[in-house]
Amino acid sequence: MNTMKAARFYSPNQPLKLEHVPIPNVGPNDVLVEVKACGVCGSDVHILKGETFPGFSPIILGHEGCGTIKTLGESVSGWKAGDRVVIDCVTTCGNCFHCLGGRDSICLNRKLTGIHLDGALAQYVRVQPRNLIALPETVSFEQGCLATDAVATPFHALKARAKLQACESIAIFGVGGLGIHAVKLARLMGASPIVAVDISTQALERASVAGADAVIDARKEDPPEGIRKRVGPLGVHVALECVGRAQTVRSAVESVGPGGRVVIVGLGAEMLQLKGITEFVRSEIALMGSSAFEIREIQEILSLMASKRLDLSSSVTRTISLDQVNEALEELAKRPGSVTRIVVNRF
Ligand SMILES: [Zn+2]
Ligand SMILES: [Zn+2]
Repeated sequence: MNTMKAARFYSPNQPLKLEHVPIPNVGPNDVLVEVKACGVCGSDVHILKGETFPGFSPIILGHEGCGTIKTLGESVSGWKAGDRVVIDCVTTCGNCFHCLGGRDSICLNRKLTGIHLDGALAQYVRVQPRNLIALPETVSFEQGCLATDAVATPFHALKARAKLQACESIAIFGVGGLGIHAVKLARLMGASPIVAVDISTQALERASVAGADAVIDARKEDPPEGIRKRVGPLGVHVALECVGRAQTVRSAVESVGPGGRVVIVGLGAEMLQLKGITEFVRSEIALMGSSAFEIREIQEILSLMASKRLDLSSSVTRTISLDQVNEALEELAKRPGSVTRIVVNRF
């Protein structure tokens, strides 16, 4: 059989079409992975809503995949059929200024599998061997695919961008799919105290269980004030914004003390409006974006998972079959920032 089942995006505001398409050809430098699990993500919802434009259409979505190697091109070495692998969706050129500096996530020629190249919401996906990371035997496929984006994105933001240090305080704005993992990672990195801010009681409860020392319901309390009440008059060392709203970025900037670092990972179309320039300058506040991750970071997360230091057992809230992918996307669209993580594991 030369065809496979795949979920393809045709145009915005249309459900993905489940159809049979040819299995990708494997060139000498390619690897064909049989997909065992693929996360459904808020980024997929952005594509469906017409807020992010895929590289072409129809395109197979799915950028959080893992599985086993089915076939390898003749020039590929270091891997064999049957190997369990996680797919890094960030496909880099390896040659540009940023690639040479080890900054995969801002490669000038970056393409994302599942957004610019056919992705893993299908029975098979073709990838470059340098986008593969071995999945440890002790980590399930369902949890392994979380390491690619849901956890790697906040990991990159906290480690590479905020350079969060042990004993530093942090406020995390928006503790949904990304933020809840930021709480776990901040704890693992020794940050203290960790304050979670959200407008969902359920999300805040989960943040407490995940390791937040304090929670603030932004519907009931002004976050910068609430944060100072809990951590002291200077505010926090680091603020992570996972919402992508101008108001939340402003709150994050107002929550850090002198020398504070504010990192934004939430995507959004609004224009930023911040505090007075002089105050910003005199307090030497750093405001930065953080996009995606580096392949090494996925590997580090998988090591943390394999050694049981990072427990993601509560992160996969539901597994579904590929046929149910549109229902999952609708659910995510209705509840943006939901901590629900849905993974396709039946194709
Ligand atoms: Zn994602
Ligand atoms: Zn590059």
